[in-house]
Amino acid sequence: IRSPKELAELSEDFNYMTGQLEESFNQIKKSEDEKRTMISQLSHDIKTPVTSIRSQIEAILDQMVSEEERPLYLESIQNQAMRLSELTDKLFELTITQENKKQKPTIKKVWIDKLLVAALNSFQVQLKAENRGITIDLDEKMSFIYSDEEGVNRILHNLIANALKYSPPGTPIEIKGTAKDDAIQMSIRDSGMGIPEEEQKHIFERLYRVEKSRNQKFGGNGLGLYISQEIAKTLGGNITVQSRLGEGSTFTVHLPRALS
Ligand code: ADP
Repeated sequence: IRSPKELAELSEDFNYMTGQLEESFNQIKKSEDEKRTMISQLSHDIKTPVTSIRSQIEAILDQMVSEEERPLYLESIQNQAMRLSELTDKLFELTITQENKKQKPTIKKVWIDKLLVAALNSFQVQLKAENRGITIDLDEKMSFIYSDEEGVNRILHNLIANALKYSPPGTPIEIKGTAKDDAIQMSIRDSGMGIPEEEQKHIFERLYRVEKSRNQKFGGNGLGLYISQEIAKTLGGNITVQSRLGEGSTFTVHLPRALS
């Protein structure tokens, strides 16, 4: 259990972070309408966990929370903080994608197995907490590609995060990689809620989210797939989806062996 001093520091950090975010927002705000919609949505999404964290820390500092209740409060603060970092990642990714359009990706030899381990590592805690089995089946020919490591990592990270988000705890996730001479593909398959057929063609659009009701439950802002698709295109490939409502989804990343 953290001390009041640590909690006060945490609160200060959050204040600083919101300030920084506001600053970034102000900079981006100047541009077109679409961006404005996106930012107002993100700001709204960010405000909720910030308000909740602050009020819970205040309650602890004001001695309104008993010893027994403290762990619950801290757990809730931690969850909200995770949500915040998810949102700031998205904001960061969006900036990067816009920069990506101007900048050339950094191409080097990327070992696929290492990349997958790195991508999965960041989900370790969640995988354990949700009792998830992940199977990885990589074609021997996969080994490596020449691409932008950071970009491929981001795509995999987003697709794995979605697979976890939109399928129930305990259900498995399968990652499969196949390779041809000049291209590879990696698919991430979940046994979750799936995506209605008529919506599948829209999910890579910026800010597009499937059905309002499911969105309220899961949180998010319809940027992850858009950003991932943009990165994949920059790297000479694309992402496709196969899904059946109620049965699950498979997202496949297609990438050239070497970006020419
Ligand atoms: P977000 O998850 O933040 O809403 P994304 O761009 O990552 O945004 O996804 C767009 C929409 O596609 C989501 O709102 C969700 O409804 C749907 N979706 C994405 N991945 C999956 C998945 N693995 N299973 C079911 N639905 C998904």
